[in-house]
Amino acid sequence: MKNNYEIIDGVAFAILPIDKDGFTHHCPFCHEFHKHGINSTGGHRSAHCNKDSVTFKSEIEAEDGTIIKSENGYILKPSGY
Ligand SMILES: [Zn+2]
Repeated sequence: MKNNYEIIDGVAFAILPIDKDGFTHHCPFCHEFHKHGINSTGGHRSAHCNKDSVTFKSEIEAEDGTIIKSENGYILKPSGY
């Protein structure tokens, strides 16, 4: 599975697209949608994952082997639709 990420100060953050209504795409950690602010301008947020979900993973691996941790949160990117 392809996971997008961005490195900031040496830490890998997952990138999660968000639509104008504040809903994210499927979260790479828990595979659920998350609701953030309407017309969010994006940026770093702490993860809204339900850690008790059976699909939740505390860390994921990008194609190049980079480990991305949910405890670091994720970066919302408005997807413009
Ligand atoms: Zn999640």
